[in-house]
Amino acid sequence: MPIRLLADEVASQIAAGEVVERPASVVKELVENAIDSKANHIVIKVEGGGQRLVEVTDDGGGIPAKELPLAVTRHATSKLARVEDLFNIHTLGFRGEALASIGSVSRLMITSRTAESDLGGHLKVDGGNVSAVAPAGAPVGTAVRVEDLFYNVPARLKFLKNPSTERRIIDTLVARFALAYPDIRFQLSQEGRASLQTSGNGDRREVLGVLFGVEIARQMLEVLTVDDPYQITGYISPISLTRSNRRDITFFINRRPVQDVSLASALIQAYHTLLMVGRYPVGVLFIDVPFELVDVNVHPTKAEVRFRQPDALFSAVQRSVRRALLAHTPVPQIEHLPFLKPTGWEPRSETEGFHWAYRGEDDSPAQMGAEDPQSTLQAAQSALTHPAGRMPLLRLVGQVASAFIIAEGPDGLYLIDQHAAHERVLFEKLITEIKHSDQDHARLPSQTLLNPVTVEMPPTKSRLLEGQIPVISRLGFQVEEFGINTYLIRAVPALLSGMDPAAALYVLVEDFEEDETPLQAELEARIIARVCKRAAVKAGKVLSNEEQRALLADLETCRSPRTCPHGRPTMIHLSVDLLERQFGRKGA
Ligand code: ADP
Ligand code: MG
Repeated sequence: MPIRLLADEVASQIAAGEVVERPASVVKELVENAIDSKANHIVIKVEGGGQRLVEVTDDGGGIPAKELPLAVTRHATSKLARVEDLFNIHTLGFRGEALASIGSVSRLMITSRTAESDLGGHLKVDGGNVSAVAPAGAPVGTAVRVEDLFYNVPARLKFLKNPSTERRIIDTLVARFALAYPDIRFQLSQEGRASLQTSGNGDRREVLGVLFGVEIARQMLEVLTVDDPYQITGYISPISLTRSNRRDITFFINRRPVQDVSLASALIQAYHTLLMVGRYPVGVLFIDVPFELVDVNVHPTKAEVRFRQPDALFSAVQRSVRRALLAHTPVPQIEHLPFLKPTGWEPRSETEGFHWAYRGEDDSPAQMGAEDPQSTLQAAQSALTHPAGRMPLLRLVGQVASAFIIAEGPDGLYLIDQHAAHERVLFEKLITEIKHSDQDHARLPSQTLLNPVTVEMPPTKSRLLEGQIPVISRLGFQVEEFGINTYLIRAVPALLSGMDPAAALYVLVEDFEEDETPLQAELEARIIARVCKRAAVKAGKVLSNEEQRALLADLETCRSPRTCPHGRPTMIHLSVDLLERQFGRKGA
């Protein structure tokens, strides 16, 4: 076939394919136009999952009637004039492609009026054929109606997902815009029913409630950081709130929703060791980036952007999330002790004071009586020099129930779960060992078995294990394939030397079975967490005073001492204040 120029109609359908992939793309483009027009109120109507109808009505600036034909012409835009402006784009649109693309694969109608004109204009595009402009009475603003999407592109029609999937995608999309623009009132109806409504009162947390439900919105932690030249704001989940995948992580760059794998992993990494491995946070972050540091023109639907300094931004996101997280991850406080609730007691006089009975023991390495002004000052200073989230120096009091350690801190009593605390200590030790050892040969100490053990694995488990032999060898296992579905264990991690080798291997393989394919680093962390769980002292073990003290000291050196590697708390704090209340020394 000789080379020929494509007919206009063919060329424009190909181009349309880039911008209009599915009904949700139409919603996206029309809503972006409405936002760009400075609307205060945007009404979106969707029928047939968006294939039959998408209609977006706004009360923005409108389009002058004589410009309507241009609005639906490719590469016609009012938002960009010079190539230099590409790095100074303050609007969501700028490519001048959306209306032309949509019009070439649907039946499109625009009705619009500007405040300067008493009469509006109306225009139709039918599969790319543009009608003449007709005068039309209309309120100021614009209404765009898109019917029968892809009616003239049967191949596309066949690839559409079912309407309920499309509806869900549209819900999420509009909710994201509503979050980014809390000052705009959004109303979305699908199949004649109200699907999402926001008040436009500017309160983001209220919109968050619409998106995730009120209970979750209430729990979300606020992020508010200026990390020059970036400003990072938004909401992240506390460590108690997780998901099994990353779908609830959303980023907005200069209020434009974007997909960015790297930013998502910056957020996830900020939760490092605080979440149970294999669990993911929820996050909605708005990043303001100076316009000259971001290229928004790398993707036809503008869903991806490119940063001038991606590493700096990555660290900024990680830092600000981590900071917010640690600031909001206090040791769990007991608010009420129902079983101790004083009934009808009068609080004693305030001046009587309160003395913690164990204060002042001589051999205490870290004597921190609550009333000693010197040590309180030290505590305050160490709180300042230690990053948030560290724990105060603790003085051992003793062990209860062979499971918990009691300690005194500058601000009251701490109950420490010995198993969880030891898990945390081991976990951080192992992670550091792996990090500090020679990159290629990093290995945890391993213990060679006198008699190698053969294990047979069920075929499914065996297939999982095959691919992971290098990973588990870094952790101290020496395992070889030994016939079909059979493995020979020559060495186990020193930490697990007390365990049956086959059982130890089984425990690890279970971790490969999660559905999400974890990153290698996450997988390693997960396995290490698993090893630590096995190796940590159990509840029920009596510990000597030295062992208890050593555990506290080790815990103090941890970076995240307040949770175990699986995200559960290692300690509970009973403040002096609480104790005073419980004993009726202070107003109930
Ligand atoms: P872009 O948004 O990239 O400029 P579009 O094809 O989406 O391209 O729109 C073309 C032009 O039509 C816009 O630049 C704008 O001037 C005008 N326009 C489209 N929708 C609206 C609207 N809802 N309100 C006001 N003007 C609009
Ligand atoms: Mg546009």
